[in-house]
Formats: sequence, structure tokens, C-alpha cells
Amino acid sequence: MLIHGLWLLLLPIAAASGWAAAKWSQKSDALDDRKALFPKDYLLGLNFLLNEEPDKALDVFLKMVDVDSETVETHLALGNLFRRRGEVNRAIRIHQNLIARPTLSKDIRVQALFALAKDYLSAGVLDRAESLFLELVEMNEQVGESLQCLLSIYQQEKNWQSAIQIAQKINARTGTDMHLPIAHHYCELAELALKTDDYESATRYLKKALSNDSNCVRASLLFGNMLVGKGNYKQAIRHFQHIKDQDPDYFVEAITPLVDSFRALSKETELILYFKEVLKEFPRIPVVVVLSEQIRQWRGDKAAATFVADYVRKHPSIAGVHRLVELQLPLTEGRAKHDLSILHSLTQKLLAAQPSYQCINCGFAGKVLHWQCPSCKRWSSMKPMYTLEVEQDD
Ligand SMILES: [Zn+2]
Repeated sequence: MLIHGLWLLLLPIAAASGWAAAKWSQKSDALDDRKALFPKDYLLGLNFLLNEEPDKALDVFLKMVDVDSETVETHLALGNLFRRRGEVNRAIRIHQNLIARPTLSKDIRVQALFALAKDYLSAGVLDRAESLFLELVEMNEQVGESLQCLLSIYQQEKNWQSAIQIAQKINARTGTDMHLPIAHHYCELAELALKTDDYESATRYLKKALSNDSNCVRASLLFGNMLVGKGNYKQAIRHFQHIKDQDPDYFVEAITPLVDSFRALSKETELILYFKEVLKEFPRIPVVVVLSEQIRQWRGDKAAATFVADYVRKHPSIAGVHRLVELQLPLTEGRAKHDLSILHSLTQKLLAAQPSYQCINCGFAGKVLHWQCPSCKRWSSMKPMYTLEVEQDD
């Protein structure tokens, strides 16, 4: 509803005619005051707004000859109101009309420029928004917010070099810690380099990512995967193992490449010993699944099922029950096997219906790991769900 927010526009009227009237003036007729302070057009425009006729209102405001310090605030508020309602073209017309006025004070001009830049950003006209925000930074006006908007623009454009420069400026100008996003920007550059097999550039970018944020899991994963691609499994294992210390929430991402790398080196025994150690400090179902598979291959389904049953008893979870049933199936026959297979498909469905990742900041959930949350745009806020799954400790 347009009415919602109109109070902002009516404030000058209220100030002139209502509770402040007595203080403001000794004149007897408040209506005369109002007419004197606000041109006829202004009241006409407001009237159109109140009647939900925004285009007529817009025409009146745009054609207003005089915009003084009182009514200019209303122009700005009206433009911002249109933008918030998603009517960006109307907002742009209002703010452009203001900027075109030669008599505008510097302060108002800055506010109008900033508002227009935000209009373009909302409309997705990124190049125009970018040049206005850059102009504001150059003028040393609205610097903090303009830099944040520029960062958002460069991220949308995947212009990672410019994003890094702006993030560094934000850090220098506002003191905000930008090491985490900068590390991700370097990871983005590394991913682009890896697409063209440019390992030298990728290595350089990943090192910069880690020097900005030594806990950048993404850089370690990329490093490990790059080394796997080059057949350097030993070095790759070191990068994958490091993830547990960087951020244990993401360790699940390293499990499959770790298992593959140990196997590529025919080091199954080391694999088991390593994951048994990991399980002590990190009793989570993905580790149990890996170990149970090794136990199954070496000592059969029964030993593996006993191992998983011990774990599930201590830490009940759907994924644990699913793995246990999976291992029990080959050991049963007849009616029991039939019942277990029903249970198995049920747990399968429950697991499939669960999102794999969820943002700890805004709750956005999905099956794919986004390093930048698609909803709230935070970096490293989407976590693997198993870390969020409620598991009971003994
Ligand atoms: Zn989010």
C-alpha cells in the first residue's frame, strides 16, 4: 500500500499545521500558514498519493518549479518510498529530476546522488550504479555505504579483482574485518584459473586466500583437489586433513577426497588409523560411514554393523540408523529382511528430503554448498547439515 510510508511525506505538513503550529507562529490562521509554506502543487501531489494515483502524483512533483529545503526532503522520501515498493523507474525519475536542478545545495545533491545510485542498483543497472557510487567515494561522501554497494556490484558481476580492491578499501576506511570475503574472492579467481589448467596462477591465488584467512576451508579444498588432479596425493592429503583444524564443521567435505587419496596411495591401513583418531575428537556420522565401509570390506557386514550399532546407540541419528539398516540387510532373511528393506527405503526418503546445507545466518537451505549464501550473501555461512543434526552425547 502506498499509504504505508506516506506519514514520512506528511511530516512537514504536520509540523506546519499541527502540534507545532502554536510554537511556530502567532498568526491566527493555520491554513494560511500551510498555504504559504507549501505550494498548491505540493498539496495536490500528496492528494494524488493518498488516492493511490502515483503517476499523477509523480507528474505533479516532477513539474514543481520550486524545490526548497522543506519540500526537497519530501522528494527524497517519495523517491525512496517508490524504490522500497519496487517501483524503481518512478524512484529514478524523482531523483534524476532533483539532481538536474542547478540550485540544489551540496548536501541535498549528495543525498539525491546516493538515492539514485541505490535506484540503479535495485533496477540491476549495475554500470550506472557503479559510476555513481564511485563518484560519491571520490567526493568523500556516504563512503561506507557506497563501498559496501560497490562490493555487492563487483560480486554480482564476478569482477573479483575489483571486489578485492574495494574490500581492502572498506577495511582501511571503516576498520571492518574483510579477510574472510577477500579470501573467498581469491578462491573465485583460483577456480577461474583452474578451469583453464593455469595451475601457477591458481596456486598464487590460493596462497593469497590462505594468507588473508588461514582458516579458509575452501582454499584448502581447492588446493587438495588441484594436487589430486596432478597426482600429488601425499601433499593433497595434508591440505584435506588441515580442514578439520580450520573449521571442523566443513570436515565432511574433505572425507571423500581423503579416502580417495589414501586409496590412490594404497594406504588403507593409514586411512583406518587416521579416521579412528578423527572419530575420537569428531564423533560424527560421516566418519562412521567411512570407517564402517572399510571394516565391511576387511571383516564383513557383521563386524561393520556392530561398529555402527555401537555408535548409533550413543549418537542416534537418521543417517546412523540408515547405515545400520544397510549393513544389517545382507545378514537377514525372509520377513525380517522384508521389514528392514521397508525401513531402509523410509530412512532413504527422510535423508533425501533433508537439505544438505543450511545457512546459519538466514536459514536458507539446499542440496548444494554455496560458499556465499544466495539469500543473505554472507560468506562461509552455509554449513553441512550433519553438523546441525541433533546427536545425543553419552
Ligand atoms: Zn544466508
